[in-house]
Amino acid sequence: AEVRDDLSKAQVKTEEAQQSALQDALTGLPNRLSFEQGLGHGLSQAKRHGWGLAVLFIDIDKFKSINDSYGHDLGDQVLLMVANRLKSFVRDEDIVSRWGGDEFVCLLLEVKQEADVTQLAEKMINRVAEAFEFQGTVLSIRASIGIAIYPADGDTSEILFKNADIAMYKAKGTEQRVVLFRESGEQKVG
Ligand code: GH3
Ligand code: MG
Repeated sequence: AEVRDDLSKAQVKTEEAQQSALQDALTGLPNRLSFEQGLGHGLSQAKRHGWGLAVLFIDIDKFKSINDSYGHDLGDQVLLMVANRLKSFVRDEDIVSRWGGDEFVCLLLEVKQEADVTQLAEKMINRVAEAFEFQGTVLSIRASIGIAIYPADGDTSEILFKNADIAMYKAKGTEQRVVLFRESGEQKVG
């Protein structure tokens, strides 16, 4: 029995390690590696079936000042809040991942119309901007979203991701909180 206990303990440990390799510790969201796997798989499905697919790059505006003004713990709570609010908009097959720091990346599968994606992104932005309370402190934040849609904005994981990132930086520089790569004025690569 002891040997079996040790074995099952080892198995639990292995499963935990496998999970943490794919999961962000703070938010429990899929991490970067997990997202990359999901995007690769989603893209090959999209190509096979002729579906659209969208990559959304989301970054909190001036997040550093939240940490500086209210402390790192509240900063963590803001990240959790953003994770939960973003997650509430997507279907089970879609992915909301934490890319790192205050950056989140979302994968939407079986996209039918570009307008569906931009509308969803606007809803995400508005939801994230709603006032948030933690232990008596009320604050509100803003975020920026860059969007790249397959096939129009790229046909590899790398290009779609890069173009969503470029579009997000365009959003940062303007009053427009959501920017579609194609409308960002940047030249498409690849
Ligand atoms: P911008 O408006 O250009 O996006 O600026 P920013 O301040 O949001 O972005 P910047 O990349 O300069 O800062 C991100 C900060 O996020 C810096 C880092 O200290 C903080 N950070 C990264 N990971 C965590 C975390 O897990 N918890 C907390 N509380 N802060 C984090
Ligand atoms: Mg930021």
